[in-house]
Amino acid sequence: MTNETVCLQTAQMLPGIVDGDLPAAVVKHLESCLRCQAEASRYRKIQRELEKLRFQVAEPPVDLVAPVLAALDQAVARRSRIRIAAVGIGVGSALVALGTVAGIALKLRHRVTSAIAPA
Ligand SMILES: [Zn+2]
Repeated sequence: MTNETVCLQTAQMLPGIVDGDLPAAVVKHLESCLRCQAEASRYRKIQRELEKLRFQVAEPPVDLVAPVLAALDQAVARRSRIRIAAVGIGVGSALVALGTVAGIALKLRHRVTSAIAPA
């Protein structure tokens, strides 16, 4: 196995350095390979920077609350209008269907009445 191949295999395992979970063969290779030591150093730096981010708290801007509350109110109002429109469409459709059925029933009744009592 060439040194290049060992370095490529080691590079694939280096993310494990963050968890402190490196196989013994990788640790041994790191002791003697400057290239892999540099790569491992970059991983350790990334780990340190990520650990710093853990304790950073992002403060929201002071003027953020009012726009968020206004947007929530608009969303609630829009949702209410949609519900009212849906109920209106449902009731309207029911009335049209009822009117159609009543119209058909009246026509049928008229035909039956005409057939029974011929002029
Ligand atoms: Zn190496």
